[in-house]
Amino acid sequence: MKTSLFLKSAAVLLTALAFGVFLHARVRVDAQAPAPSYDLLITNARIVDGSGNPWFRGDVAIKDGRIARIGRVGPETAARTIDAHGQIVAPGFIDVHTHVESIYGQPAAENFVRMGVTTLVTGNCGTSTTNVAEFLGRIKDKPLAVNLATLIAHGSVRRRVMGLGDRAPTPAEQAQMESLVEQGMKDGAVGLSTGLIYVPGTYAKTDEIVGLARMAAKYGGLYATHMRNEGDKVADAIRESIQIGEQAGLPVEISHFKISNKKLWGQSPMTLGLVRDARARGLVVTVDQYAYTASSTSLESRLPSWLRAGGLDEAKQRLADKATRERAINDTKDALKRSGFKDYSFAVVASYGPDKSFNGKSIAEITKQVRKKSDVTSQIEQMLEMYEAGGAGMIYHGMGEDDVRRIMQEPFTMIASDSGVREIDESVPHPRGYGNNARVLGRYVRELKLISLEDAIRKMTSLPAQTFGFRDRGLIREGFAADIVIFDENTIVDQSTFDKPHQYPLGISYVIVNGAAVLENNQMTTARPGAALFGPGRRQETQTARSL
Ligand SMILES: [Zn+2]
Repeated sequence: MKTSLFLKSAAVLLTALAFGVFLHARVRVDAQAPAPSYDLLITNARIVDGSGNPWFRGDVAIKDGRIARIGRVGPETAARTIDAHGQIVAPGFIDVHTHVESIYGQPAAENFVRMGVTTLVTGNCGTSTTNVAEFLGRIKDKPLAVNLATLIAHGSVRRRVMGLGDRAPTPAEQAQMESLVEQGMKDGAVGLSTGLIYVPGTYAKTDEIVGLARMAAKYGGLYATHMRNEGDKVADAIRESIQIGEQAGLPVEISHFKISNKKLWGQSPMTLGLVRDARARGLVVTVDQYAYTASSTSLESRLPSWLRAGGLDEAKQRLADKATRERAINDTKDALKRSGFKDYSFAVVASYGPDKSFNGKSIAEITKQVRKKSDVTSQIEQMLEMYEAGGAGMIYHGMGEDDVRRIMQEPFTMIASDSGVREIDESVPHPRGYGNNARVLGRYVRELKLISLEDAIRKMTSLPAQTFGFRDRGLIREGFAADIVIFDENTIVDQSTFDKPHQYPLGISYVIVNGAAVLENNQMTTARPGAALFGPGRRQETQTARSL
């Protein structure tokens, strides 16, 4: 009995096997040229997957814009194969701190692509579109090389509702601002941003911001802030940022975390400690940073906020009054004294419309050239004159290298450029827009061994994705969007300098966005595969609409 049952089972099994082979053969015969299983296959990769785990060897197969398989995949199964030759294959970098409101004019975003960036978050520092639906929707008619997300910004909302005045909102104005933020979140913003040194954001008290942040919280967004102070009052500013997150009930991202007061250089253990303490209390607080000891922003941000109220025309009227001008000079002088710098030789012009020969020179140098003077009062006079003529973009060499390094080593710090889309040879901008990611990987990882390659990649990929809610990006994982960068860890290096910023980095050979190469063999392609990335409010709305 037992034997016959065994024989019967064996017969059934054999029949099934034979049938299977027959079926398999049939398929083979019918489809003489089988369609490749994958659109793109990257072979011989050393995969740094974005999690922070050590690299491993494998192939990455891509289908329909997504990572379909990781492991050993036969080359005959893909339409196209890229041999990585043992180079690093990592998730495309996510730059969470950019100012690319003008990106539709330069859809290739070459300066970002060439540093390995595949996703941009704009709307930072209190300035954004106030029509998120329109801004993100434009990608359908004007496709981009990279993915794009935006914050809805307090400064732009305040300006639209209240103008540029130095005053508190009425209850009606507060409600109007909150409803604009709510609409922005419903339209797909990833959170609220503030710029509390700029006009008009600087005139807002904490409560006003909490009200707006509550709207971002309601739709699952975060609060990203260019704080009220990054100098002598940086600790107070960090506390205020954390308080806003705590009261409104949402995660806090402190933008371009730094200490730009010379007297406070070396105090980053204290400032990082404030963030660590908040996290220990259960609050979600993270920071981002660019890898340079200089910042870049407007000239006017160095002038007193009372002077700038209402915008340039009002400021010019004020400055026409001799006593008021005197007061502006004295207040600016006090601020300089507090910052620990002797004069404005640390302040270099990046772009000045009325006289391009100023670009690349410090305020001290310009003052010497124009006024034959080197005292601080003359330098401030020169700054006021340039402000009255329309203002300037500046680079401030105001940070200490030790603080930059310590902040970079912190687990909750991500890497972000704070850059716009660059036009080659236009003015003398901060090099961060050309070199930031490559500089971290070349200088801080390879040369200085400050952080590991895997940790640096994590700070550029999965940490920003987690923080800003890009749930299917930032990791080399099956099912995730195929945003990928291929680079040589032994040669990657930034070339952009403060003197000659318009130079692309070396060592990055491929950048792939949603499965399509936008940089191929170190050449830009014409592919525009970028997607608009919507925040959770829009997803919520879409789901509700579907269920109705
Ligand atoms: Zn900023």
